[in-house]
Amino acid sequence: MNYRLKFVETDGIETISDKTWLIEPISIKAKEIVREKNLILRLRGLQTYHLKKMNYGQPCTDCFDEIMSMQVDGNCTTCYNTRFIGGYYSPVSTKAFMTQTPDINTINRFGEFNPGQVIYSISAYPELF
Ligand SMILES: [Zn+2]
Repeated sequence: MNYRLKFVETDGIETISDKTWLIEPISIKAKEIVREKNLILRLRGLQTYHLKKMNYGQPCTDCFDEIMSMQVDGNCTTCYNTRFIGGYYSPVSTKAFMTQTPDINTINRFGEFNPGQVIYSISAYPELF
């Protein structure tokens, strides 16, 4: 997972880093940004669980017709419509922030957001997928 970091000095001068990998040695400023974000997430973040959909595994025989080569039950509780038994890997727990959905189109520093959209922010660790 790589990142670009944007530094804004107190005098307004902005610097955007080259793509960087957090597992490589990073600047002390970047480390401090990550440390502060992780601290805030740990103290005030919502407990969330991320589920990764299976894309291989034992094929589901309850909803998938091999002769027709298609799913015949759209509400399968064996594979949760992934076509693989179990459907999802074990959840990964992490803390996150999520903004409220705007009532009208909104433009902020992250871009344009429409009603129904949110900003979902998590730490780089644990690495989710
Ligand atoms: Zn199924």
